[in-house]
Amino acid sequence: MTQHLMKVSNLPVFLTNALQQEDYIVHDHAHIIDPEALTKVTALVGTGSESKVDKKLLSMLPNVKLIALCGVGYDGIEMDAIQERGIVVTHTPGTMTADVADLALGLMLAVGRRIPQADHFLRNGDWAMEPFAMTRRVSGKRVGILGLGRIGRAIAKRAEAFEMTVAYCGRTPKADVPYAFHADVASLADAVDFLVVATPGGAQTKHLVNADVLQKLGPKGFLINIARASVVDQAALVQALKDKTIAGAGLDVFWDEPRVPAELRSLTQVVLTPHIGSHTEETRRDMADLTMANLRAFYVQEALPTPVPECRPESASA
Ligand code: NAP
Repeated sequence: MTQHLMKVSNLPVFLTNALQQEDYIVHDHAHIIDPEALTKVTALVGTGSESKVDKKLLSMLPNVKLIALCGVGYDGIEMDAIQERGIVVTHTPGTMTADVADLALGLMLAVGRRIPQADHFLRNGDWAMEPFAMTRRVSGKRVGILGLGRIGRAIAKRAEAFEMTVAYCGRTPKADVPYAFHADVASLADAVDFLVVATPGGAQTKHLVNADVLQKLGPKGFLINIARASVVDQAALVQALKDKTIAGAGLDVFWDEPRVPAELRSLTQVVLTPHIGSHTEETRRDMADLTMANLRAFYVQEALPTPVPECRPESASA
């Protein structure tokens, strides 16, 4: 039977193609022509980073029972509202772990060794006049990971190959890793050269990295954020960069994407990428496949492959 879905963000091309091939009808929440369609919609689809679903939107969609996200983060979903309605949220954990961790290391190398600036220097013809200014070594430095989950662990593994000392901060210490645990972010920042943000976004992690944490990271320290911009206090970060309270930052995520403040873009000690952590063909295909598997399982009433932790059967009985 043809199923009616509604997209709550732009959809990646692999997912759009797969939905078309499997005969789903996909409505766009921004352009509902037929109000009747709202009652036909039984599932929402969208990306992890862009989808916003709240009580107001759900009140217009009486028959929605699934939100299938193509991405790992789900901080845009009002979990109280979906739990009240018995709606299940699925995501695509694990599919992008390696790519996001690769980008984190890429940003560490790029900002530490000033690779984009060196490229610009050469293209500009400046090499003929003078040598490029010396940078500092990245290998062997101390890296602190805020949020030692799937991506955090993959970053730690890569950092070890660069002979770095790894420490981490999270809600609880992990028994299965040899890295030093810090109960608070400021203490972790004080102990490292690179502070890497790898937690989910949302209210619980909002501004965990604030002015005090940046002060602790210090003038030789770099901040890397491949997770969510909300974890970092934007005003405090821009100020810390302008005052040289920290040495620099490598950022893949921004507070009002795709808009990036001119003030941040004008700084030379930052490396900025347009939220491309999971942006490889391999990962995007895997993410689309897993999203489709969740949709299929939902409509044939089988166990969902990857519900978010709050929607797993064991969390209902806990
Ligand atoms: P994950 O496996 O759930 O890991 C998240 C980690 O954050 C866990 O270790 C968790 O600690 C920790 N954490 C949660 N709340 C915390 C808090 N209040 N304080 C400190 N630590 C906290 O998720 P993942 O797959 O690694 O993904 C992490 C995030 O990366 C996603 O949520 C998403 O926002 C972001 N992401 C970005 C991109 C991109 O394109 N740039 C792509 C994919 C994902 P516990 O172990 O204590 O629960």
